[in-house]
Amino acid sequence: MSGPDLGHPLPSGAVLNGMSVDVEDWFQVGAFEHVIARGEWDGLDRRVEANCDRVLALFDEAGVKATFFTLGWVAKRHGAMMRRIAAQGHEIASHGWDHKRVFAMGEAAFAEDIARARAVLEDTSGSAVTGYRAPSFSIDARTPWAHEVLARHGYAYSSSVAPIVHDHYGWREAPRFAFRPVAGSPLVEVPVTTVELAGRRMAAGGGGFFRLLPYAVSHWAVDRVNRREGRPAAFYFHPWEVDPGQPRRTDAPLRSRFRHYTNLSAMAGKLQRLLGAFAWGRMDAVVAAEAARLDAEQVTA
Ligand SMILES: [Zn+2]
Repeated sequence: MSGPDLGHPLPSGAVLNGMSVDVEDWFQVGAFEHVIARGEWDGLDRRVEANCDRVLALFDEAGVKATFFTLGWVAKRHGAMMRRIAAQGHEIASHGWDHKRVFAMGEAAFAEDIARARAVLEDTSGSAVTGYRAPSFSIDARTPWAHEVLARHGYAYSSSVAPIVHDHYGWREAPRFAFRPVAGSPLVEVPVTTVELAGRRMAAGGGGFFRLLPYAVSHWAVDRVNRREGRPAAFYFHPWEVDPGQPRRTDAPLRSRFRHYTNLSAMAGKLQRLLGAFAWGRMDAVVAAEAARLDAEQVTA
C-alpha cells in the first residue's frame, strides 16, 4: 500500500486527521509577550528539548507520525533535537523565526522571516520544509499578501488560519476546511479545526479548547468533523503543555496565567486518549488528500 506511514492500519472509512506540534518554548508564547522581551529569551531556562522528547515518546507509543512546526530560533539552538524528530519519521515544518505575528510584520519582513527560519530548519534537520504555520494563527483579513508570499517561496501548504472570532486572533470569513488561497497556485491552506454549536463557531483543534475543557469535548468535536462532515481535523498543541514543572511567571496578567498553567499535569494523559481514539498522521499527508479532493471538486464544478 502506498501513502504515508501511519504506524497502524487506518480503519476502513476512517478519516486521516492532521496531528501537529507548535515547537516553541514556554517563554515564547503570545500570552507572555508583554512581560518577557525577546532580548531576555537567551537568559531563560530552556525546556523545549526535554519536552519534545516527551512528545516523541507519546507519539511513538501511539504509533503516530506528526508535523512539528518549529521556530527557527529554537532549531538554531537545538540541532540534535531537530535530527531526532526527523529521524523518527515526523515532518519538519516552519513556525517562523521568533513568533512574530504575520500581521505585525508586513510583507517584506514576513518574506525575510520565513526564509531565515526555513534555512535553519532544513540545515539542522536535513529534511525539506514545505509547510508553514503562522504564530498565533496570524494570517487573516489584514494580510492578503501572506499566502502569496508562501506560494512564491514554494510552500506546498499553510495551516495558519483560524476561521473564527477570538480575542487574540481569527478570520471569520475564511473557509472552515482546506482551500486554495492563491489563484493559479497549488498552495493549500488547512485551517485549524472548528465546530459550530448553537450558532457559535469555536476553534476546536487544540490549544486552550483541548487543555482547559474536559477530554470528551474535543473527542466529540473531532468525531463530529470526521463523521458528520467527512473531513479531517487539524489538531495542534505545544511542548510546554506537557510540562507541569515549568517556571511560573507571576508577573503575567491573570487571564494569561490561567490559560497557560491550567491542567498541564493532565495533558499527557489526554493526549494519549486522543491519539488512540482517531487516525492521525502528518499534515503533509492530510494536505495530499485534501488537494486531491479540491482537484476533483474543480473537475466536477
Ligand atoms: Zn506558536
